Amino acid sequence: MTSPRKFDVLIVGAGFAGCVVARELANAGRKVHVVEKRPHIAGNAYDRVDAHGHLIHDYGPHIFHTNSDMVIRWLSQFTNWRFYEHRVLAQVGEQLLPIPINRQTLNKLYGLELDEAGAAEFLAKVREPRESNKTSEDVVLSSVGHDLCDKFFRGYTKKQWGLDLSELSAGVAARIPTRTNDDDRYFTDTYQLMPDQGYTAMFQNMLNHPSIEVSLSFDFALERPNLSWNTLIYTGPIDQFYNCQFGKLPYRSIQFEHGHQSVDQLQSVGTVNYPNDHAYTRITEFKHLTGSQAKGTSYVYEFPSNEGDPYYPIPRQENEALFKQYAALAEQETSVYFVGRLAQYRYYNMDQVVAAALALSKKIISA
Ligand code: FAD
Ligand code: UDP
Repeated sequence: MTSPRKFDVLIVGAGFAGCVVARELANAGRKVHVVEKRPHIAGNAYDRVDAHGHLIHDYGPHIFHTNSDMVIRWLSQFTNWRFYEHRVLAQVGEQLLPIPINRQTLNKLYGLELDEAGAAEFLAKVREPRESNKTSEDVVLSSVGHDLCDKFFRGYTKKQWGLDLSELSAGVAARIPTRTNDDDRYFTDTYQLMPDQGYTAMFQNMLNHPSIEVSLSFDFALERPNLSWNTLIYTGPIDQFYNCQFGKLPYRSIQFEHGHQSVDQLQSVGTVNYPNDHAYTRITEFKHLTGSQAKGTSYVYEFPSNEGDPYYPIPRQENEALFKQYAALAEQETSVYFVGRLAQYRYYNMDQVVAAALALSKKIISA
């Protein structure tokens, strides 16, 4: 029998969580080995130039936005930025309307001419206050009432999650604000920027350190019996780490259908949402996000599904309870740390993963 291969720091997963910790620990003098089961780095933020010369996001549109000076400062060591504010339209009937719902959405949908105060009054009349704001249905009904809920939220949510709004925690729909002014940006964060050479190039720079080694197409679950470590950072699904001993944690997947057309522009904004018709939730045209000048245009359709790679933790009470059982095991570990969207079972944006990974690195370095 051969003895297990010994690592100082072993990191499972080369997404934001794994790579941020890798760089911080390498900077602090540790010898780091990152293993990734896919054939590429950057996790779900992975991007690449397609056959038509367009930078595309293989795992769906990734738009960077944050209010954190600290996060932007840290990432700026590895990339320059391109200013980009994301805009989204939702197709309702024959109309394409701004989402998040704003004054223009109400005026166009209902044929009104409301000013800002009028839009606020309109919403005050249609909203249906609930006793508590526990579910996503509570959140949407109490902010916009049932008609807007049915037109913009109920169908989209059913497609995206395979669940009704009432079956999801409040935080899911609370990601989408309601506005009475004409602001049609999807996000209002202080920093709304895209890495100017793409995410993968930013990750390459992050991992470019003499104390970091990377092994791709390396599945930790398969190799585990042959490995040992002083410190393990795990960024994959937490239930898999514990052989799903309390049952499988549900994660939602998406099938991405990429396409290309020879026209200059497919749609007027980065993303068009389809809340009510079609099996897909949204279409994203990459050149809006990346500024690509190549000929034609590349885009992606998203078809949510239960089959496939785990992309989204599903925020609802019973899943949180199951996660807590795994989290209790994780707390007892002395040399294993769990961080990231899959390992912490949190509906994190990229900047939140960076912040969580920086906090964990600090804790490990100062231990
Ligand atoms: P991941 O990127 O999932 O990385 C985990 C890595 O671990 C993966 O590469 C996986 O292959 C690897 N791994 C798992 N198990 C093993 C194993 N056994 N052995 C080896 N490797 C393993 N966030 C935003 O801020 N803005 C957006 O616009 C945005 N859009 C999104 C759109 C979609 C469709 C999706 C799915 C997510 C989006 N996100 C967005 C969220 C963003 O992708 C995540 O916050 C971030 O990428 C999570 O980083 P992570 O390192 O935690 O996980
Ligand atoms: N949502 C919706 N209609 C929309 C946009 C969003 O019902 O047009 C709801 C839906 O439940 C979605 C959630 O709000 O899953 C969060 O939307 P977001 O765009 O933040 O999702 P992500 O980009 O993370 O997939």
